Amino acid sequence: DLEEKPQRIKRFHALMMFTKVNKSLNLQNKFQVAMRSMAKHGRFLEDEVLVLHFVSDVGSQELGERMLHELLLDATFLYEVVFHNVDTLTEKLFPIVEAMQKHFSAGSGAYYSDAIFFLSVAMHRIMPAELKRIVQLDLDLKYRSNIRDLFQEFNHFSPEAVIGITREMQPVYRHTFWQYRKDNPKSHVGDPPPDGLPGFNSGVMLLNLDAMRRSTLYNQLLEPKRVTQFAEKFHFRGHLGDQDFFTMIGMEHGELFYPLACGWNRQLCTWWRDHGYGDVFQLYYQCDGPLHIYHGNCNSPIPDD
Ligand code: UDP
Ligand code: MN
Repeated sequence: DLEEKPQRIKRFHALMMFTKVNKSLNLQNKFQVAMRSMAKHGRFLEDEVLVLHFVSDVGSQELGERMLHELLLDATFLYEVVFHNVDTLTEKLFPIVEAMQKHFSAGSGAYYSDAIFFLSVAMHRIMPAELKRIVQLDLDLKYRSNIRDLFQEFNHFSPEAVIGITREMQPVYRHTFWQYRKDNPKSHVGDPPPDGLPGFNSGVMLLNLDAMRRSTLYNQLLEPKRVTQFAEKFHFRGHLGDQDFFTMIGMEHGELFYPLACGWNRQLCTWWRDHGYGDVFQLYYQCDGPLHIYHGNCNSPIPDD
């Protein structure tokens, strides 16, 4: 008979912060490298669509709409583009993350506009319930592998895990947890891998929104009282937004995090090597195994290979 099976389209969601891009040639260059390399290596099946979400202001959105088609000309896969207004998201986010901002934001006050740096932390409350999984990606990335393979990592999460994330590759948290480490010399907090807890880097994150919504523990840890308790216990004072929050709760509740292999977020920044941590730097920086994504963090140049 001629009856056709309905083809069910499968969507893979990826989100990038995309603000003030129209005002920065530096960010535009990073955007080009990221999109071209993603297009070059991306392979999806016929009934699959990569949905690219951008959190933008009006100016950046206009630039993104103009540039994306050309940057993705080489793509062999289907894609859709969704722009989210940064102000609309900030309005929803601020009440949820306001309390943590004072512990993990630069400067003294908790600025309204800084709330967006905590989007990943509360993404499960911001995005519609139909959205079950999303990966959040920095713009300063260069893809060397098929981004579809990154989504397969969701299937390796333990039942308790809510977020997949790579470890931080500089001794920045060895520095941040200095006081706690001094008071607790036997603790592994801030120590290098493989036995230590070096903290996380937020350049590539797998957010299992479904699991984040379901996890009683994760949602308790978002409560202002708990955040303050943790920050006091660890004498934690940071300025890196979501990655500080995840690092801090990860010190006590590692089970919430799926340890994404270092090759999925191969950070290149070496700032802390030259700022007092040269003796231990390599212990943190080393990353063996397949190199899937370069992360040119702190404006580090990315190799051509
Ligand atoms: N970003 C942005 N506009 C800015 C600065 C940053 O949209 O003016 C986004 C962009 O996606 C970027 C991410 O925020 O990749 C994190 O910033 P960045 O990668 O520069 O931080 P680093 O990885 O060097 O710590
Ligand atoms: Mn980055």
